[in-house]
Amino acid sequence: MTSDPWDETTIAQLVARVQDPNRDRFFEQVRRTGNCHHPIRLRSTAVRSRNGRILMIRCRNRRESVCPSCSWEYQGDIWQLLFAGVAGGRKGLPETIATHPMAFATLTAPGFGAVHGRHPGGCRQPRRRRYCRHGRPNWCDADHDGGDPALGDPLCPECYRYQDAVRFNWHAPELWRRFTIQSRRCLARASRDSGQPVRLSYAKVVEFQRRGVVHIHAIVRADACTDELTPPTAFPAEMLVDALTDAAQGVQIDIPGQTLRFGSQLDVAIVATGGTSATPEAVAAYLAKYATKAADEPGLRRRLHDLAELEALQLRPHLRRMVETAWCLGDGEPNMRKWAHALGYRGHFATKSRRYSTTLTALRQARAEHQRQRDDAADCAPSVEWRYDGAGYLTKGDAAFARAAAAHERERRHLRHLDKASRP
Ligand SMILES: [Zn+2]
Ligand SMILES: [Zn+2]
Ligand SMILES: [Zn+2]
Repeated sequence: MTSDPWDETTIAQLVARVQDPNRDRFFEQVRRTGNCHHPIRLRSTAVRSRNGRILMIRCRNRRESVCPSCSWEYQGDIWQLLFAGVAGGRKGLPETIATHPMAFATLTAPGFGAVHGRHPGGCRQPRRRRYCRHGRPNWCDADHDGGDPALGDPLCPECYRYQDAVRFNWHAPELWRRFTIQSRRCLARASRDSGQPVRLSYAKVVEFQRRGVVHIHAIVRADACTDELTPPTAFPAEMLVDALTDAAQGVQIDIPGQTLRFGSQLDVAIVATGGTSATPEAVAAYLAKYATKAADEPGLRRRLHDLAELEALQLRPHLRRMVETAWCLGDGEPNMRKWAHALGYRGHFATKSRRYSTTLTALRQARAEHQRQRDDAADCAPSVEWRYDGAGYLTKGDAAFARAAAAHERERRHLRHLDKASRP
C-alpha cells in the first residue's frame, strides 16, 4: 500500500501537532488504537469544557485499503483462531488437537469458458486452434505475469457463460452445506467400519478468483463424538481425505437447465506436522491471508440500489459484466439483486463450525481485558460516560501521522520476525 506524498497543509498540521503541548496524550491515543487509520472518536460527557476529552478506539475495518492496521489485527486474530484449531494447546483448546485427523480442502468452481491464466508454456494451448463464431481465437500464447490485468478475463466475453458463473456463486453456500452433510454421511459410513463415530469440525474461507467465481478453502478436522474434544481412535487421516473427496465429487444442485457441482480441480491434503503434509502453521496462514483478501475485493464493498451506481465501482469489464448479469438474473431469482455487487455470492467469507476453535469475540475480549489491565489511566475509568463524536482524524496531519506510525510499526515487527527466523 502506497500513500500519497504529503501536501503543504498536511506538513503544517504535522508540525503543529509536534509543537502541541498535549501531543503526548494524542500520540498515546493513536498508539492505543494500534495506529488505526479511521478511529472512532468518543467524547467524555463528564468534562464540561468546550473541548471535552476525546477517547479514540479502533475502526475494526477488515479492509487493508481502508485501514491497514485494523485489517492486520483482524488477520492476526483469524490466524490465532485457525491455528488453535489445528495445533491445539492454546486459546483453551487441548494439546491433543494436533493428533486429530485433519485435512485441507480446496473446492473450486468448474469452468464457464476459456479465461486467461498463468500456465507454463503459454496461457491457453488447446489441441485444436480455431476461432469462435465471434471471430476470436480460442488460444493465447502470452506468458502472463502475476500482475497482468488480463488474468481471469475470458478469451471471448460473448462465448463466456456469465449466467452459469453467477448462478454458481449464488448457489455456492448451498453447495457447501450439502458438501458438509455428504461428508458427514461418508464419514459415518467409514467410521462405522472402524467402530467409532466421529464428528466434523471445520473452518472455511471463501476466495474470489480473478475470474470472479468463488473458491472455498477449508480446514476439516475429525473429532471423537464426546463432550470433550478428543481425537478419534483408529481413524487414519486418509479416511477423512477419502470421505471429503467423495463428498466433493458427489454433491450437486439441480436447477432448471443446469446442474451445479464443484469443479474437477479438487485438492484435499492431509494436515500434519512433519513429513510432506501441509503443516498447521502453513494452512492457518494461508486461510488467514485469504480471509483478509476477501474483505478487500473490489465490488464487494457496497450494495447497489441501481445499476447506474455500477460506474462508481470502477470494476474491470469482466467483473462489471458479472455484476450486470447478477442484476438481470435478479429479475427471476428473488433477492439476487441484493447480491449483484458481490457477483451473486451471498454467503459469509470466513466461517467455522461451533467446536472448531475459539471465537473472534473471545480473542477480542481477552485483548480488551489485557489492555484495560495495562492502562488504568483516568480516561478509561468505567465511571466516565462516552458519547460518539465522529470517525477519523480531525486533520490530514493527524491521519498522516497514524499512517506513518502504522507503517513504521509493521516494518519493526517484520524485522523482528526476520531476526527471529534467521536465528539458528
Ligand atoms: Zn482501523
Ligand atoms: Zn492469455
Ligand atoms: Zn466467442
